[in-house]
Amino acid sequence: MGRLDGKVAIISGGARGQGATEVRFLTREGAKVVFGDILDEEGMKVEAEIRELGGEATYVHLDVTEEAQWQAAVQTAEERYGKLDILVNNAGILIRKGLEETTVEDWERIMDINAKGVFLGSKSAIPAMRRAGGGSIINISSTAGLVGSPNGSPSYTATKGAVRLLTKATAIQYAGENIRCNSVHPGPIDTPMIQDTINDPSRLEQRMQRLPLGRVGTTEDIAYGVLYLASDESSFVTGSELVIDGGTTAS
Ligand code: NAP
Repeated sequence: MGRLDGKVAIISGGARGQGATEVRFLTREGAKVVFGDILDEEGMKVEAEIRELGGEATYVHLDVTEEAQWQAAVQTAEERYGKLDILVNNAGILIRKGLEETTVEDWERIMDINAKGVFLGSKSAIPAMRRAGGGSIINISSTAGLVGSPNGSPSYTATKGAVRLLTKATAIQYAGENIRCNSVHPGPIDTPMIQDTINDPSRLEQRMQRLPLGRVGTTEDIAYGVLYLASDESSFVTGSELVIDGGTTAS
C-alpha cells in the first residue's frame, strides 16, 4: 500500500533538483504524476527512469509563466489519469543580486516565475480539484519567504514572501471545498540553484554559521515534507508553513 495510492499530482520544475526527487517520491508512494519543466531533455530522462521503476509519470513542457501551458498540464492529468488531487508549485529561480544591482527586468522575471507561476498553477488546478472533490496544493517558498538574510537576494525574498501569503489566502478561500494549501520553506538545499555557494568555501562557511544542524539539506529532506502535505495524513493541515531548514530560522 502506498501513501498516495489512487492520487494524481502535477509538479512544476520537475526535471531536476527538488522537483525531480518529489516526482520520484510521489510515484513511489503510488501517485500518478504529470510533471513539467522548461528543461525537456532532463524531464524526459526522469520520466523514463520512473517508468523503468514501475511508476506512472508523464513529462510535459510547462513554462509556469504561461497560463495555456498550465491548462494543458491539467488537461493531461484529467485525460490520462482521470482527475487531479495534488499540485506542487515547485519551479523557481534565484537571481542573486543586491537591491541596488537588481534591474527592473530582473525584478519582473523573478516575480513572473516565482510568484505569478504559483498563482497560475493554483488558478488552473483548482477547478479540476473541485471536480475531484478536494485537493492539496503545496507551494515551495523558502526561508527567504520568512526572514531577510545578510547576503540574500531582495527580489527573491519578495517573491517567496508573496508565495507564503498567497498560500494562506488560498487556504482560507478554498477550505470549504476541501482544497488545502500549505507552504514549504526549505533552507539551503544541495541542488543546481545554490552550487555557486556550495562551491565557494568562504560563502559556504558563512552559511554554515547560520545552520545549527551543521549541514546543507538534501532534496530528500524536502520531498519527505511534500509527501506528508500531499497525503491524507495532513488532512487537518491547511494554511501552514512547513519549515525544513536545519534550524536556520529558529534563532
Ligand atoms: P533547481 O534545481 O534550479 O530547480 C528548479 C527548476 O525549475 C529547474 O529545473 C528550472 O529550470 C525550473 N524552472 C525555471 N524557470 C521555470 C519556468 N519558467 N517554468 C518551469 N520551470 C522552470 O532548484 P531547486 O533547488 O530544486 O528549486 C526548487 C524550488 O525550491 C524553487 O522554488 C526554489 O526557489 C526553492 N528553494 C530552493 C532552495 C535551495 O537552496 N536550493 C532553498 C529554498 C527554496 P532552469 O534551470 O532552466 O531555470
